[in-house]
Amino acid sequence: MSLLTPYFRAAVLAALVLLLPRLSISAPGTATVSGIRFWTTEEYTRVVVDLEGEATYEANFLGPDPAHNLPPRIFIDLQGADIREEILRAPVQVRNGLLKVVRAGRFRKGVVRVVVDLERESSHRVFAITDPFRVIIDIDGKAPAAPSAPAASPEARDAGEPRAAATRGKIRVMLDPGHGGKDPGATGANGLREKDVVLAIGRMVRDRMQREDAFDVRMTRDTDVFLPLEERTAMANEAHADIFVSLHINASPNRRAEGISTYVLSRATDRHSLELAARENGVPVAKLATVKFIIDDLSTFGRKKESLRLAKTVNDAIVRNVNGRFGRVSDLGLKQAPFYVLVGARMTAVLVEASFITNLREEARLRDPEYLGAIADSVVEAIRFYGEKGALARAGL
Ligand SMILES: [Zn+2]
Repeated sequence: MSLLTPYFRAAVLAALVLLLPRLSISAPGTATVSGIRFWTTEEYTRVVVDLEGEATYEANFLGPDPAHNLPPRIFIDLQGADIREEILRAPVQVRNGLLKVVRAGRFRKGVVRVVVDLERESSHRVFAITDPFRVIIDIDGKAPAAPSAPAASPEARDAGEPRAAATRGKIRVMLDPGHGGKDPGATGANGLREKDVVLAIGRMVRDRMQREDAFDVRMTRDTDVFLPLEERTAMANEAHADIFVSLHINASPNRRAEGISTYVLSRATDRHSLELAARENGVPVAKLATVKFIIDDLSTFGRKKESLRLAKTVNDAIVRNVNGRFGRVSDLGLKQAPFYVLVGARMTAVLVEASFITNLREEARLRDPEYLGAIADSVVEAIRFYGEKGALARAGL
């Protein structure tokens, strides 16, 4: 940081959020950089550095150095790490107007340095996800507005206008059925699997939305495939979605636990939320509980206020519809927890936990297509309502 000018230091301090800065100490050489992946648009790039084994890391930023013809760079030092030869030999060319190339090398014994050469100064943040361990670099470069695009007023944005819906005329929704493939999610006492239930709900929501002009709907998965959590968010960002809805079914060691809850990304509001996030993230509670999760960047990258509003609307709609058609459903309400799948989402983003698969009565309900249909109807209804409120705000009503 000492190499930075005060301006850059302020910008970087504002932009650089280390969610898991010191995750664990590994003996030198026990972690190996095994891959570099990325997703990109002209205004957003997510780079993922995959490791076999865990390493500590430190992220830094350097401004451009015209004297040496060097661009602005983000560099990440992975301590206690080595790198596979093929990664060493093959820098990842991105060249999307935002970043040029991602390269990695042995900086010194036991330290691998990953360098991201930027095309221009951009805000960014770095965080880690575990099991398996990977370091994620999100780079945010707002593209200049197209001359023909009507600029939304700050009031309209504050009032909840979906980011690009004003120019597209449709609300773009990315539905994310949780889990899939090798990851079944939670399983009920009678064998019902979360991954199958949420895929069924996701397809129902998609089919309903496709019948309406107001929506442009996509899915992170519409088959039984495994997708890493960071890829789901990256897909939503890449698609310029206005809304991201991750679909899940709750679980608890307490077989009596039941009901509907909807989450936004934040620190956990209670013990169950923390346990739930740990399970959905695929990490032990102890690991998540000790993490100093800094999520203050939501005001710049995410849309917390809007996410809270949509989460409440979705939750109320599910409770109302299920109660109306089936009766006796617990409203666990709006909650907050550190779900990895929501980290880095650049749009209104919520995670629905629609009933408990570990509750016998709710597991039986989740086998009923009518029940799943009621949940799907509620999601569509809530997003329609959310979009209409945004349109009213745009019209100044
Ligand atoms: Zn889940």
